[in-house]
Amino acid sequence: MIKQKEKIIFEVSNLKKYYPVRKKFFSRQKQYAKSVDGVSFAIKENSILGLVGESGCGKSTIGKTILGLTSPTGGKVTFRDKIIFDVENNISISNGEMTKLRSEMQIIFQDPYASLDPSKSVGQIVSEGIKKHKIVSKDKVEEKTREMLELCGLDATSIFKYPHEFSGGQRQRIGIARALAMNPKFIVCDEPTAALDVSIQSQILNLMLDLKDKFGLTYLFISHNFSVVKSFCDEIAVMYLGQIVEKGEADEVYNNPKHPYTKALISSVPIQHPGEEKERIILKGSMPSAVDIPSGCRFHTRCPYKTERCMNETPTWKTLDNETGVACHLY
Ligand code: SF4
Repeated sequence: MIKQKEKIIFEVSNLKKYYPVRKKFFSRQKQYAKSVDGVSFAIKENSILGLVGESGCGKSTIGKTILGLTSPTGGKVTFRDKIIFDVENNISISNGEMTKLRSEMQIIFQDPYASLDPSKSVGQIVSEGIKKHKIVSKDKVEEKTREMLELCGLDATSIFKYPHEFSGGQRQRIGIARALAMNPKFIVCDEPTAALDVSIQSQILNLMLDLKDKFGLTYLFISHNFSVVKSFCDEIAVMYLGQIVEKGEADEVYNNPKHPYTKALISSVPIQHPGEEKERIILKGSMPSAVDIPSGCRFHTRCPYKTERCMNETPTWKTLDNETGVACHLY
C-alpha cells in the first residue's frame, strides 16, 4: 500500500517517443510511429508502479527512454530531482553525469537467455558494472560478485560457470544480481518473468520483493499480465496505444476499474478463487497501428461504450474521488 508523505523518486512529464517510418510513395508528409505519445507519471520512493497493456502499446519503449537507452522525442524526466532530459527546453544531462547516475538506475530484461553474453562467465557478467563504475575497490570485486549471487539465491561458485549451465529462472537471478551489484535506487523491470514457467515466476517475484525491502529499491514493473501486476505492484498505470488511460492504487484499479479498456483486460484474467464469477469482455479487433492513430479517443474503434463524441473529441485526464485518474468521456 502507498503511504502518505512518500517522496517522488522518478517523474515523467509528457514523454514522447516517435519513430520515423518509410513514407508512402508520392507522400510529402513525414510519417511517424507514435510509440509513446504524451505520457506522464510519478513513482514514489520504495514503491512499485506497474505499467500494463497489450504488446506494442509502448510500455517497454517508456522503460528504455526514461533510462536514456533511446533518445526521447519530447517531454521531461527527472530522477531524484535531477533533470535527465527536458526536450522542449533543450536540457539534457551531460554524459559524465549520466554515467554516474547510470549505476543508480538499472534494468532487468525480459529474456534471461538473450540478455546474458554466452561467451562470458557469470563472474565476468556480474562484475562488469562493479568494475566499470568502481562500486568497490579492485580487491573487493570478487567478494562483492559472490555476495550478489548469494543474495539472489545462487551458489557463490557460480562465478566460474557460463550462462548455458543455468535454467531460465537461474539466469534471471543472474540478471538481477548484475543489476543489484550496481547499488541501484531504481530498477526498470521489463517483463522479467514473462519468459519463465509459472512456478518459477513467483519465486523470482518473491526474490524481487525481498530485495526491494532489503535495499529500499523502487521498481517500474512492465508487464502484459494483469494478475502479476495486481499482486506485485502498489500502483498500476494502464497503457493503450502510446498513452496512459487509467492510473491508481493497484487494489482500486483491479477491484473497481473505470476505463473500458481496463475492464476488458481484467475480465481476461483467469478466475482466482472457486466460486468467483466474472463476465468476459471480448474486445473487437486488435490495437490499431501507432502510425495511424484513430481520431478522438484512440480506443473508440474497440470500445463497447463509444458514442459520436468519442470519435471526435480526445478525452482529457480526470482525477476521481478515490484518486484514480482516467481518460474517458464516461467520467
Ligand atoms: Fe470508450 Fe468513449 Fe471512453 Fe473512449 S472515451 S473509452 S470510446 S467511452
